[in-house]
Amino acid sequence: MTEHSRAARRLDGVGSTIFAEMSALAVRTGSVNLGQGFPDKSGPDTVIEAVYDAMRAGRNQYPPGRGTPELVDAVIRHQQRHYGLGLAPENVVVTTGATEAIAGALLGLVDPGDEVVVWEPYYDSYRAMIQFAGGVRRPVTLRAPDYRFAADELEAAVTDRTKLLLLNTPHNPTGHVFDRAELETVADVARRHDLVVVTDEVYEHLTFDDHEHVPFATLPGMFERTVTISSSGKTFSFTGWKIGWATGPADLVAAVEGAKNWLSYSSGAPFQPAIAQALDHEAAFHEQLREDLQKKRDYLCDALAALGLDVHVPQGTYFVTTDVSSWGHADGKAFCAALAERARVVAIPNQVFYEDESSEGRHLIRWAFCKEQDVLEEGVRRLRGVDLRA
Ligand SMILES: *Cc1c(COP(=O)(O)O)cnc(C)c1O
Repeated sequence: MTEHSRAARRLDGVGSTIFAEMSALAVRTGSVNLGQGFPDKSGPDTVIEAVYDAMRAGRNQYPPGRGTPELVDAVIRHQQRHYGLGLAPENVVVTTGATEAIAGALLGLVDPGDEVVVWEPYYDSYRAMIQFAGGVRRPVTLRAPDYRFAADELEAAVTDRTKLLLLNTPHNPTGHVFDRAELETVADVARRHDLVVVTDEVYEHLTFDDHEHVPFATLPGMFERTVTISSSGKTFSFTGWKIGWATGPADLVAAVEGAKNWLSYSSGAPFQPAIAQALDHEAAFHEQLREDLQKKRDYLCDALAALGLDVHVPQGTYFVTTDVSSWGHADGKAFCAALAERARVVAIPNQVFYEDESSEGRHLIRWAFCKEQDVLEEGVRRLRGVDLRA
């Protein structure tokens, strides 16, 4: 390493992702990886076959930047069927995963100095992309145990420099599903301050019990100011295919596309018709996935609680958070390092998802349960085998 880095300053503090770091730690220590949120099991075989068919049919060159027409149309039908939203092709842009939709939205909509209100703990790409755009983060904290936010804190985070609100529901890492009343509070602020709302809804189909996902764009008057982001990776368990999309009013979608054109331009030619087929015909897959995940959530939450951890049961997503102060630990990063070395289980310290690592999330740990049952059981067996109390 040289004394001073040759890397651009826009990479300061965002040089790597915690998921890559923790997955590497899992490999090095031979750990059960309950860190990174990817499922062990692939999505439907019929959809995999559709990729082969598309490749054999010669669909191997650049698709349109906007997305393959079949996929754009299937997204339109999906939004109508599930949410009653009537979209046209100019309301949709396909992206290289939700990650590129987030990048496109922030690079396409935020000017240097603009402020972005973001609920913390937040998904780590938000921090990087707000920084790349030259924006300023204004966090609003979701507080344990129920992870609701205080309306006055949202109000206080908004200034005359605020450009957009960056929302995520169902929320990673907390598993909180914003209810209609919370979303109304957000909508009221957006309306009064004339703000754009970018909403990351990649877990739209993965909610539990009677928690219902309410797309922010379906609230009265909100469609016209909202960019909604989805991911086929999360909905159909093909996280490595990196097919996502953004929907919204034509002007906002054009801004996302305007940036995305210079990132990947277009993505995954043979995957796009396959995901169109999944959207049209495989809703049973995510229904089943939701049921399976709920059982796994219950299994892991019960097991962690039985070990004496304070468990915050999630309403959606792949993740459960626990408070390790009940085991006498004050620092999640140190706890996760010890966990990997001593129990050979990897989890994620939530503190990295907060603006101030020393505060609210310091003793919170995120565990992924989107894994095969035997993997979860092995993880639990290892946890039972060592005393991790401080
Ligand atoms: C997984 C995830 C993404 C990224 O989705 P990809 O389609 O894999 O790029 C974005 N936001 C949240 C909250 C996620 O959990």
